[in-house]
Amino acid sequence: MSRSIVVSPGPVDVPPEAILELPALHHRSAAFERVVVESAEAIRDGLGARHPVHFLTASGTGAMEAAVANATAPGGRLLVVSCGKFGDRWAEIGKAYECDVSVLRIPDGAAVDLGAAVDRVRRERPRYLAATHVESSTGSLFPVRELLASLGAERPVVIVDAVSSFAAEEIAMDGWGIDVVVGASQKALGAPAGVSFVCMKGRAGRPARRGCFYFDLNRYASTEGMSGAPFTPAVQTMQLVHRSLAAMRRAGFDAVRSRHRRASAAFLSACGVLGLAAFPEEPSAAVQALKLPDGCRAGDILDGLSRSGFIAAGGQGALRGRIVRTGFLGIYDGATLIRLVRALGEAVRMAGIEPDIAAAEKRMEEYAEKNRLL
Ligand code: PMP
Repeated sequence: MSRSIVVSPGPVDVPPEAILELPALHHRSAAFERVVVESAEAIRDGLGARHPVHFLTASGTGAMEAAVANATAPGGRLLVVSCGKFGDRWAEIGKAYECDVSVLRIPDGAAVDLGAAVDRVRRERPRYLAATHVESSTGSLFPVRELLASLGAERPVVIVDAVSSFAAEEIAMDGWGIDVVVGASQKALGAPAGVSFVCMKGRAGRPARRGCFYFDLNRYASTEGMSGAPFTPAVQTMQLVHRSLAAMRRAGFDAVRSRHRRASAAFLSACGVLGLAAFPEEPSAAVQALKLPDGCRAGDILDGLSRSGFIAAGGQGALRGRIVRTGFLGIYDGATLIRLVRALGEAVRMAGIEPDIAAAEKRMEEYAEKNRLL
């Protein structure tokens, strides 16, 4: 039986051969040190940053926690502009670390009201501001650049979750004035979950919080190499991250991001032909969240996709049953996307609605041809 293709917003699929091909490495070796140092360089390249990158053996939430533990002080006001479940997590972590948390909650799928966000910053004068670049629960893109450009020189320490957006959406950490960025291995970095990173401007090295041990970045701070892995790292996951980053660097991050953007826009357009509209007002290139036609159940669509060999995701929390979510992180061929459109069309048809599957496929095909992806 052929292997299913994961088209969820992550974790992405890692073919078993990729793991079998990895050279044996011990983490206390010059070869592993190269893996870490080169990966850190590539992350800096992808972020447009000059700061140290620390890899943690933890999922993305661990990197979020490390960011809060190392960049904030108890009692400091943290303004979270949240667009969904992962934005809300910044507030939860901030509370756990005794920040004075204030939340501007954007309704699920709505565009960020920049005026309201700027107003909250001016009125509340927070010391820290946290946001989620691509909110995976809704597929929304956060206008990080626009918000920061509107804030002027006197701004809070800005912390951005790039777990879903890294390598899919444009980001310029230094150029836009972001202080801390976190990411994780199981999205565009093409590896299993379990490695995450924190890139932090000039703050690693100051004392982390009381009660924080594993995520105290002082322990990781001396170098990015051997002494930068103070605890046993996830060696194979790190090797896979390194491999993906090397490929992205060869292709160029701009090219990788552009491919995500074009593929995502074309897929959303083909989905429109099938009667599935984009859920967010500002769709991202990393995660597509689709509203279902009346009478269509998310579970049925996901089952239909799975019968065609595609593993996608449903909604979370209040969006459970209301949306279907996909992502093409690491999927590079147009033929797969055309098959996905057909599978989605067939799943909608099985749910009792008659979409024009041929027209949707054609839309996707035209895109793939134009972009020489076939
Ligand atoms: N932020 C975003 C945008 C995410 O998509 C996720 C995971 N889906 C997380 C944070 C949390 O990461 P993890 O589940 O790896 O802890």
